[in-house]
Amino acid sequence: MFDAERMSRIPFSGIRKVFEEVHKRTAQGQHIVNLGIGRPDFDTPQNIKEAAKKALDDGHVHYASNYGIEELRNAIADKFKRDNGLVFDPSGEIMVTVGANEAVFLTMVSFINPGDEVLIPDPCWPHYAPSVDLVGGVPVSLPVYEENDFNPVTNDIFDKCSEKTKLIVVNSPQNPTGAVYTKQTLEEIARIAIEKDWMVLSDEIYEHLIYGGARHYSIAAFSGMRERTVTINGFSKSYAMTGWRLGYLGVDRRLMSALVRAHQYSTNCVSTFSQYGAAEALVGPQTDLENMVQEFSRRRDLVAHSLSSMKHISFSEPKGAFYVMVNVSGTGKETEQVADELLDSGVAVVPGTKLGEYGGDFIRLSYANSYENLEIAMKRMASYFNSL
Ligand code: PMP
Repeated sequence: MFDAERMSRIPFSGIRKVFEEVHKRTAQGQHIVNLGIGRPDFDTPQNIKEAAKKALDDGHVHYASNYGIEELRNAIADKFKRDNGLVFDPSGEIMVTVGANEAVFLTMVSFINPGDEVLIPDPCWPHYAPSVDLVGGVPVSLPVYEENDFNPVTNDIFDKCSEKTKLIVVNSPQNPTGAVYTKQTLEEIARIAIEKDWMVLSDEIYEHLIYGGARHYSIAAFSGMRERTVTINGFSKSYAMTGWRLGYLGVDRRLMSALVRAHQYSTNCVSTFSQYGAAEALVGPQTDLENMVQEFSRRRDLVAHSLSSMKHISFSEPKGAFYVMVNVSGTGKETEQVADELLDSGVAVVPGTKLGEYGGDFIRLSYANSYENLEIAMKRMASYFNSL
């Protein structure tokens, strides 16, 4: 009764609904392998935990700078230079945020006016559109297709843009398709963004989760892009730190003024002692990350191999993140029905309708689950699809 009018446009997360159903059924005794989940099943590496514990003991319990602690900003600046070929000044071009989530939201608050349109590749992570909606912008779906490995194509970009387009979202490696955009795709997006004077939000949170020789490029490093791009990254996926709520953004100094003010009046700063853990994540040994990527790669191979022998489905082999979009249109059933029936068979997946306007032919599987559980899930899925 007291809800603001804008809340009528904001859906309850469809992925959360899947989790609630899984919890209910598990409590009733059904064995379910949850492939709906979008977080690493690994523990945060010990050196990171120790650094945060030490920070607590050392008394780092007060507010930090709005931009984040200096040690972490320096480590992020080094990381941008080393991994992405991006040079950002740690004082004034880097800000630590409450997860990549906050960085996405701040970008919309800072740069999107009511009525501005934002192009979002679809199927997509279902957070971009509501964050555009919350600030009065208009999210516009940009379809991406299995046959192009879910890379956006120029004709569709021109087809979906208008005079009101202000920003295009790039998320590579992508949730939910596992796509890693090619250099050519990114060059084309950059060319159009410059020609039309758009901004780009580049969500690179899955940057390190990349397999089989695919390569990640940061679009901000392309000529003419630095001044119009908000590069977003975080610790949740690479360092198994989803609960720490730590992300960051890098921008040209001229874009920071709006972003830091939006941050000041929303969260002010990220929990101080946890930022010491994040700094350790970047400067400490990377062996846990390397092992995790290797294990994800092994699971991806298992899932891809198993899916390729199942009837009535197809998929584009994922190159990054830890998801596969499986095309179930060959079953002749709606994606919601397939997801419900798989749940009855003991496998939870996310129906593509929860992942955008163009997700209707698909279900999303996450392989952020143990190898053993994935083997069980693949057997259950094979017997479901092969018996249709
Ligand atoms: N971006 C994408 C594409 C994601 O899939 C997720 C998490 N599912 C996030 C951002 C959120 O990251 P964080 O935990 O850092 O807020």
